[in-house]
Amino acid sequence: MVLAQLGGSIARALQQMSNATIIDEKVLNECLNEISRALLQSDVQFKLVRDMQANIKRIVNLDELAAGHNKRRIIQQAVFNELCKMLDPGKPSFTPKKGKTSVVMFVGLQGSGKTTTCTKYAYYHQKKGWKPALVCADTFRAGAFDQLKQNATKTKIPYYGSYMESDPVKIAVEGVETFKKENRDLIIVDTSGRHKQEAALFEEMRQVSEATKPDLIIFVMDSSIGQAAFDQAQAFKQSVAVGAVIITKMDGHAKGGGALSAVAATKSPVIFIGTGEHMEEFEVFDVKPFVSRLLGMGDWSGFMDKIHEVVPTDQQPELLQKLSEGSFTLRLMYEQFQNILKMGPIGQVFSMLPGFSSELMPKGHEKESQAKIKRYMTMMDSMTNAELDSTNPKLFNDSRIMRIARGSGRSVRDVMEMMEEYKRLAKIWSKMKGLKIPKKGDMSSL
Ligand code: GDP
Repeated sequence: MVLAQLGGSIARALQQMSNATIIDEKVLNECLNEISRALLQSDVQFKLVRDMQANIKRIVNLDELAAGHNKRRIIQQAVFNELCKMLDPGKPSFTPKKGKTSVVMFVGLQGSGKTTTCTKYAYYHQKKGWKPALVCADTFRAGAFDQLKQNATKTKIPYYGSYMESDPVKIAVEGVETFKKENRDLIIVDTSGRHKQEAALFEEMRQVSEATKPDLIIFVMDSSIGQAAFDQAQAFKQSVAVGAVIITKMDGHAKGGGALSAVAATKSPVIFIGTGEHMEEFEVFDVKPFVSRLLGMGDWSGFMDKIHEVVPTDQQPELLQKLSEGSFTLRLMYEQFQNILKMGPIGQVFSMLPGFSSELMPKGHEKESQAKIKRYMTMMDSMTNAELDSTNPKLFNDSRIMRIARGSGRSVRDVMEMMEEYKRLAKIWSKMKGLKIPKKGDMSSL
């Protein structure tokens, strides 16, 4: 189960509970069982799920809650808080300071994406004004230095390594010393991963760590490792002082629940996630927006930032106005499709809305999504103005559907499919009704 599905399942469980007339112990238990099942299917460790369930029950003590309390809200909030707690170890990780030398060591199994992530991390900081440098202390894997060299050259980041030297500790120390002399403020050491957890790997990590005295050790984990996540993360933590976690390949079809387990195992926060093979496909990880999105609550602060960032200034008020009205017509859908096809970035705005991107424009299927959007638009071209401006799907009786199908040369089924998509998007849109639109920089009310 990928994370989007996990979010969907949890949101559905909460919704079902909300639909019940009375929320009693039985309804609460059903809801919590449903959520637990979804978490387990996403590879969150069993013990974590069990603890979470117990915690929520303790917080939501139905008998003791006075009648006036909004039980639904309390339960939803408790689920939100528990998920945040799972992902937040309670202490921030070390953050490098610009102008002051920091050494950051990367550890993780071979194939986890460690070397790629080292460069992404360096590149991210370089863009923000740091002076990073990369040291390849992986002498185990032939080709590791070449790979790092290639990535570093592409991103114009200085690097250090050797084809001849076989002692990783020696290379790590030399590299760190060299870059300290050059006043580099973020020295990143990539270590060997080997293919499985074994004593030699952990011993080597310990030695490199002792010799280079890193300010931070980052554990890189592939999101697809499933239930093994907890044990793997714990094994690394027991060998070296892991202070932060980066989860890679979150773009794939991996079960993402390992992220939750890794945090619990290392008691360290996830600081970034990798979302693709390219250097830019790297995102800062924030617990609350992540859980909001997971629960289909929408990431408002990220969403508003995105609007200000990518929508042309003169179009912003109109779009925001329409958002706050909450009514979503087919014409509005048509316009958004046009934006998505024409201007690309506006698609990014909608990708922040739960439901818009994950199903309409799944990553990696851009071509098919575009074709689908164009197909929808052709059908909408055959609609009357009244149809386009209506917010009432009931208007579309059989004869109208047949007329639209004929007019656009598509089948009735295609038109029905498009109407379903419209209804789905309208529902998401309607959630924004009455949304107070904050000015940029004033997100405190969200
Ligand atoms: P290492 O052996 O741990 O150093 O792993 P590499 O950095 O060589 O990465 C292994 C493979 O995973 C390479 O093909 C990378 O391009 C790929 N990779 C790394 N991070 C990501 C990610 O976030 N998403 C995807 N899709 N691929 C990734």
